[in-house]
Amino acid sequence: MSIKTFQDLIKEVHEKGICQECGGCTSFCSAAFEKVIEFKKPNSPPEYINKDACLECGICYYLCPQTHILDEELNKTYQFTDFSSMPYGYAEDIYSCQTTDETFLKHGTDGGVVNTLLNFLLETKVIDGAIVSKAEGPFSRESMFAETKDDLIKASGTNLNISPQVDEIQRFNTYTRSIPQLSHYKFKKLAIVGTPCQIYTIRCMQNLGVTPSEHVEITLGLFCYHNFLFEKTQIEKFEKDFKIKFEDIIKINIKEDLILKLEDKNSKEKIIHIPFNKLVNYIRPACNSCIDFTNVYSDISFGGLGSPDKFTTVIPRTEKGKKLLQKALDKDIIKSLKLDENTKRNMKTVISKFSELKKERRNKFMENLK
Ligand SMILES: Cc1cc2nc3c(=O)[nH]c(=O)nc-3n(C[C@H](O)[C@H](O)[C@H](O)COP(=O)(O)OP(=O)(O)OC[C@H]3O[C@@H](n4cnc5c(N)ncnc54)[C@H](O)[C@@H]3O)c2cc1C
Ligand code: SF4
Ligand code: SF4
Ligand code: SF4
Repeated sequence: MSIKTFQDLIKEVHEKGICQECGGCTSFCSAAFEKVIEFKKPNSPPEYINKDACLECGICYYLCPQTHILDEELNKTYQFTDFSSMPYGYAEDIYSCQTTDETFLKHGTDGGVVNTLLNFLLETKVIDGAIVSKAEGPFSRESMFAETKDDLIKASGTNLNISPQVDEIQRFNTYTRSIPQLSHYKFKKLAIVGTPCQIYTIRCMQNLGVTPSEHVEITLGLFCYHNFLFEKTQIEKFEKDFKIKFEDIIKINIKEDLILKLEDKNSKEKIIHIPFNKLVNYIRPACNSCIDFTNVYSDISFGGLGSPDKFTTVIPRTEKGKKLLQKALDKDIIKSLKLDENTKRNMKTVISKFSELKKERRNKFMENLK
């Protein structure tokens, strides 16, 4: 049987318009230091830049979240069956948490919990660094390495544009020429924050035992209903459609709709809510083919949906995730609302509803693709 390679990803994923631009293939390419494949253009799938150096090993094909080769294996590891019977993934409990750190709360998207946990991991030296994503402006991003609390504060808040941040990991490839880089950065254990497509690719690599995934100590997964694509003409249309100016956006959040906090020239603030069904023209097309809303393969998942304002919904999934959450609660680094069983049920119901909607959207999209 011939091994499928990046050439097959081009045919089966890119040409169908379903590349999620997660950065998995470019990050974990076995010939990464020959630079075989790379993102060349913004908002476009990666491309061959040196096809002759391709080892035809098939790693990129295996880990792509759109080929689903390793789903069965991952499901076993993460106690997951399918999105119909487990719409929010494996979860023994659900929490609504908030940081006790004023700065993280002020800058956080929701309860500032993700960055607080990362800071805790850094301070206790469980990790040497975290790969996060820094907002450059509304809907634009840049992946960055955080080593300190200051770095994390710079990265606080969500920017809703895909971050090919797993790309950053390739610097820590312990094979071949990366070793000098590893000692240069002095990072050995990493935490990574990511959307479901990004975490999926990391889990595939860990499952295959391919370096540098062994450096990923813990994955903090964000809920993700969709991501947006804003090219210049779309920005103009968006401004017209919703009667706002992009430059006035000071904060973005996503829960059951898109929430924009605006500040005009006279420092007057206002918040507007835009329902998802009005945003169809701005969704990154590949996101329509994505099924995972709650990041079922992460160690802990985080979202705003289901929790009150300034609180984060937290779903620990693995032993590692559960231990981290418990330690942070015990040490009062974060606090949790006391939720009765009825409230928890309601949270699960609303999250399941969005999970179901995402699944239906994907099924329709894939049906049309056929
Ligand atoms: C693309 C996207 C879509 C989302 N969609 C939903 C949704 O539909 N419903 C919902 O309830 N929640 C959604 N979320 C999650 C939600 O916005 C918050 O990130 C989550 O609740 C954590 O909040 P917090 O205050 O605890 O995190 P914080 O303490 O503010 O930390 C947020 C962390 O996320 C990192 N980050 C920000 N943007 C990105 C990115 N693009 N890629 C990777 N890491 C990033 C930051 O670097 C920071 O470390 C989405 C997040 C993203 C990035
Ligand atoms: S070397 Fe392997 S991982 Fe890299 S592009 Fe070729 S087939 Fe994919
Ligand atoms: S691994 Fe990610 S970036 Fe690469 S082809 Fe698949 S979806 Fe696209
Ligand atoms: S909707 Fe899916 S493909 Fe799109 S950014 Fe979120 S996890 Fe990735």
